[in-house]
Amino acid sequence: MKQFLNFIDGAFVATGKTFQNRAPVDNRVIGLVHEAGREQVDAAVRAARRALKGEWGRMSVARRVELLYAVADEINRRFDDFLAAEMADTGKPKSLASHIDIPRGAANFKVFADIVKNVPTESFEMTTPDGGTALSYALRSPVGVVGVVCPWNLPLLLMTWKVGPALACGNTVVVKPSEETPQTAALLGEVMNAVGVPPGVYNVVHGFGPDSAGEFLTTHPGVNAITFTGETRTGEAIMKAAAGGARPVSLEMGGKNPAIVFADCDFDAAIAGTLRSAFANCGQVCLGTERVYVERPLFERFVAALKQGAEALVMGRPEDDATGMGPLISAEHKQKVLSYYRRAVEEGATVVTGGGVPDMQGELANGAWVQPTIWTGLPESAAVVREEIFGPCCHIAPFDREEEVIRMANDTQYGLAASVWTSDLTRGHRVAASLETGLVWVNAWFLRDLRTPFGGAKQSGIGREGGVHSLEFYTELKNVCVKL
Ligand code: NAD
Repeated sequence: MKQFLNFIDGAFVATGKTFQNRAPVDNRVIGLVHEAGREQVDAAVRAARRALKGEWGRMSVARRVELLYAVADEINRRFDDFLAAEMADTGKPKSLASHIDIPRGAANFKVFADIVKNVPTESFEMTTPDGGTALSYALRSPVGVVGVVCPWNLPLLLMTWKVGPALACGNTVVVKPSEETPQTAALLGEVMNAVGVPPGVYNVVHGFGPDSAGEFLTTHPGVNAITFTGETRTGEAIMKAAAGGARPVSLEMGGKNPAIVFADCDFDAAIAGTLRSAFANCGQVCLGTERVYVERPLFERFVAALKQGAEALVMGRPEDDATGMGPLISAEHKQKVLSYYRRAVEEGATVVTGGGVPDMQGELANGAWVQPTIWTGLPESAAVVREEIFGPCCHIAPFDREEEVIRMANDTQYGLAASVWTSDLTRGHRVAASLETGLVWVNAWFLRDLRTPFGGAKQSGIGREGGVHSLEFYTELKNVCVKL
């Protein structure tokens, strides 16, 4: 049986306590994860603190940048290992993981290395009361030891999205991967050692949230800042933990993202984009669409085409080239998603397609599979229209007027992302400006330039990361004023 160990101070660490890691495709046990207790979390935080004071803390930016490039190159050299680990943990199709998860995992190190290398410092010259001059300039220093708490949906991508900029800015990290997806975080430890990142710079502690590694890390007084991706409720708990010691948080949380389809859109592009945004990664993408609003003249044609696309999705093993959709992450999440499938029917939805469990053969019958599902006919007050389900499903509603659809799109506690499909770019700009979200795509979905700000409005997040915005979180600015 494979063992997934903690990575502390450059060494892999077993603990006396393990839990099972199961493959979502067939529920088979694929390994035992060594859960970190308070003692291991403390050792990881202390190692991270020592590394800050050691070689890493004294390293030139140029050398740090070289090392981060080497990390990216080593991820690419071990591409197949990362791919296999990610597919085993999540069941996501190879086509997805090999085009998005692993390449972005490597890119996250290069992009932030480039940004840190090129960021200017600000300086101001002022006239002093005695008629002389003073020069004020800003120095950036790392915030220190950063706690990184990660979700399971895009494990390597979202973890390195935090670790890349944190290390580029000279911090050290203690990462708590999701209990569902321990493998790629541990593999990254091998990469760090292989390229010569000093021990203690990158640490991994495995476990759960409350009363486990997640809580031990976020309440540890030696952690200077906490960056988190996951559910809004968990983000609230982490914010409370961070209040002890008044530590900064960056929170990327849940969503209930709308797609708005105007009748003048490029129909095929809108269908292809909405198919991806509703069903990619089995609907387990924070930026995914669970609410679709279609201008009335296009409504029936759109529903029919989306149904056809959903029904054409091939479910199967991640390694198969034909596979277009994998399972959900776990049996537990399957129960949650199926409870929403039942709820939709109870609330009076018309089930356009799906609504249940597909007929999978052999061992796959034990996996966390659900059908891609489309509903119509529900009021805006229905639970499946209001609550984040995080499964391969969406509700489609018609609209008549632009102001009406903007009001419906904004009528949510969340504010992560939205997409707008129209050939009238003036309207595209106008609607984008009116949406209460951190991101809006016009005639696109999931197009990301890593130099741009990323984050959620309302209960979808606090702060922005990406490009220079990450530097604001991962560095401390010091103003030095020199009287000349
Ligand atoms: P989750 O909140 O259940 O878990 C995320 C991480 O937090 C896990 O590592 C978990 O062990 C840890 N955790 C749980 N309770 C904790 C506690 N009390 N203290 C410290 N750590 C704790 O989220 P998930 O189910 O892994 O991921 C799915 C959620 O993530 C969805 O809501 C999705 O929208 C959101 N998400 C958001 C973004 C974004 O960028 N905004 C990206 C991906 C996922």
